[in-house]
Amino acid sequence: MTCLLCHTKFHIHYRFSDLLLLKTPEQFICPDCQQAFIKIPAEHCPRCYKSGNSQICKDCLEWESKGILINHQAIFQYNNAMHDYFSRYKFLGDYQLHKIFSSFFKKFDKNFTVVPIPISPERYQKRGFNQVSAFLKEPSFTELLVKSDTLAQSSLNRKSRLNSKNTFSIIENAILPKKVLLVDDIYTTGATLQHAAHLLKDSGVREIKTFSLCR
Ligand SMILES: [Zn+2]
Ligand SMILES: [Zn+2]
Repeated sequence: MTCLLCHTKFHIHYRFSDLLLLKTPEQFICPDCQQAFIKIPAEHCPRCYKSGNSQICKDCLEWESKGILINHQAIFQYNNAMHDYFSRYKFLGDYQLHKIFSSFFKKFDKNFTVVPIPISPERYQKRGFNQVSAFLKEPSFTELLVKSDTLAQSSLNRKSRLNSKNTFSIIENAILPKKVLLVDDIYTTGATLQHAAHLLKDSGVREIKTFSLCR
C-alpha cells in the first residue's frame, strides 16, 4: 500500500482473527502517519470532550449560562497533524483523504438521524465537496440544512465566532425527525453546531446530540 499522506510504501499486518472472520480493516496511511493522530484521552470535559480535564470546561459553562447544555462527542485531538490533514483535505481539496477517517463516522446511535453540517454554496463551488458528507456515506445521512453566508468561520476570531449569528436554514419541505445527531469535522467553540442545533430545536426536533472528528 502507498500512504495517502506521505506516499511511502507500507505493509498491512493482518491479525489472524481478522483473516478468520474475513474482516480485513482497510488502512490508508502508514503507521508513522497514523501515530501522529492522537485520540482524546479519558480525561476530558464530559460535555464536549475537550482534552485534559474531567471537569466541565469554560466553553461549556459559557453555553450553560446561555441556557444551552452541550451533548457532544469527539474522537481525536486537533493537533498539528490534524491541522495539516485538514489543510490538505479541505483547503487543497484533496477529496480522497476522506477515506482515512470515514470509518470513525459509522458507529452512531441508530435512533438518531445523522445530519451533516452544510457548507456554503460558494465553498462547495471552490472545494467540490462537503468534507463532512464525504466522511459519512450515503444513505446513512440526511441533508436537512443549508448554509447561506459567505463569511468563513475560520476568518473570524474566537469571540466573534461565539457571538456570530445563525447562518443556517432548513431545506425547503424537509420532514424533520424527532432525534438528530449533528455531525461536523472540527469542534472549536461549538458555535457552528449550536447554531444548527438551535434552529432544528426551534423547528420541532426534540432531541439533538452532536459529534465531530476532532475537538
Ligand atoms: Zn505515511
Ligand atoms: Zn466542554
